[in-house]
Amino acid sequence: MPPSTATQAIVAETTQRDAVVTTDAATLPVERSDFDRWMVTCYAPASFVPVRGEGSRLWDQDGRMYIDFASGVAVTALGHCHPALVKAIETQARRLWHVSNWFTNEPALRLAKRLIDATFAERVFFCNSGAEANEAALKLARRYAHDRSGPQRTRVVSTLNAFHGRTLFTVTAGGQAKYATGFGPNPSGFTHLRYNDVAALEAEFAAHGPEICAVILEPMQGEGGMTPGTPEYLQAARRLCSAHGALLILDEIQSGMGRTGALFSYMQKGIVPDILTSAKGLGGGFPIGAMLTTTEIASAFTVGVHGTTYGGNPLACAVAGAVFDIVNTTEVLDGVKARHALFMEGLRAINARRRVFRALRGEGVWLGCELEEPLRGRSVDVMKAAGDAGLMVLVAGPDVVRIAPSLVISLDEILEGLARLETALDRAVA
Ligand SMILES: *Cc1c(COP(=O)(O)O)cnc(C)c1O
Repeated sequence: MPPSTATQAIVAETTQRDAVVTTDAATLPVERSDFDRWMVTCYAPASFVPVRGEGSRLWDQDGRMYIDFASGVAVTALGHCHPALVKAIETQARRLWHVSNWFTNEPALRLAKRLIDATFAERVFFCNSGAEANEAALKLARRYAHDRSGPQRTRVVSTLNAFHGRTLFTVTAGGQAKYATGFGPNPSGFTHLRYNDVAALEAEFAAHGPEICAVILEPMQGEGGMTPGTPEYLQAARRLCSAHGALLILDEIQSGMGRTGALFSYMQKGIVPDILTSAKGLGGGFPIGAMLTTTEIASAFTVGVHGTTYGGNPLACAVAGAVFDIVNTTEVLDGVKARHALFMEGLRAINARRRVFRALRGEGVWLGCELEEPLRGRSVDVMKAAGDAGLMVLVAGPDVVRIAPSLVISLDEILEGLARLETALDRAVA
C-alpha cells in the first residue's frame, strides 16, 4: 500500500529548504552568570563574554575592546575572522560539509598534499582536536610495535610537566598529576622523565630499550611552563629512538603551524620525528587535528583499526587549507621572527621599569614571562588584571604568563597590548 497523501504531505512540508524558520537560537539573551547555572563546571571563564573579533581585537557584550595576546589558546593563528578564512568557510559551506570517511573528499586530499609536500611526512590522518591526534599517535606507535616487534614493546616514555591532551591515554602521557589523578585505573606502561634530562633518557633506554615503543615530547613545553627543549636533548631523543627501534612522536600541537617562526618547530631543531601531531593553529579556530607520519609506520593502521566520524571533514579541511597557504609563506614566517624581536624588546622595557619578570623565554610569537616576587605563583591574578585592563593573555602554570598572539598581529596591536600588560602588572602588584 502506498503511503497516504497525508504522510506524503508531511514529508513534502518538512522538506522545504527555503521556508523561513523561526528560531531564537541566535537572539536568546544570555550572560556570564548563566555559565554557572548551565555549564559543567570544569572551566572558570573570565567575567566578560566576547561576542565579536577582528584581527587581534575582540569586543565583549558591553562593547569593551580587548587586545588579544592569547588567540584562544594559541589557536587563532591568523587572528579573528581573517577574510581569506571567512571566504574559505563560506565557499565550502555552500558546497559540502560532511560525508563521513566512507567517502574521501577534495579539501582533505588537498590539505594532506600540502602537509606532505612541506614536511617529512608521507601520510596524514585527520581528526578533530589535539588530544585525538596524540591518541592516534600513541595507538599507532603501540600497534606498529605490536605488529613489528611483538607484544613486549609497549612502554611509552614521556616527560614530567608535559601536556598532551585530556583523553585518558593522553592525560596519562602528560606528566601533570593534577590532570591524571582520580580517573584510574589509567592506561599502564608509561615512564615520565625530567624534560631536558639527557642522562635520564639514556638510562631509561639502557634499562628498557627493547620494551620502549615510543618517546612523546613537545619541542617546547607549553602548558608546563614554556620550557624550550634544548637541541642536545631533542637530538638525544632522536638518536636513542633510532638506535633502539622506538618511534619519536613530536607533539607540535602548540608549537606548530608557524608559531615559532618555522612551519613546524622540528625544522629548526635538527631532528625529524617519526610521527608529528598538529591541531590548534592548524584550523585557525576551526576544530581540526592531524597526525603526520611515514608510509612504513602508517601501514600499521589497516582498514578499520582506527577512525573518527568527523575527522577530515570538508569544512574543517577547507579552512585549514586556507590557513596553511597563508602561514606557509616566508612573509608570514619571517614576520613571526620580527614580531618576536618586538615583543622581547617591549617586555624587557617593561621589566627594566617594573622588575616583574625573573625570566623571559620562548620562540616566535610564543613567549613565557616568568614572574618575579611579589607576583610569583600569581599568574592567574595577572591574567585577570589583564582582562580588566582590556588584554587577553594566558598562563603556563602558576609562575608564567604566556603570550601567544596571532602570527599576523599588527604593530599597533602589539604596542597597545604591551601597554595594557604593563598596567595590569602594576595593578596586580598593588
Ligand atoms: C592543546 C594541546 C593539546 C591538546 O589539544 P586539544 O585540542 O585541547 O585536545 C595537546 N598537546 C599540546 C602540546 C597542546 O598544547
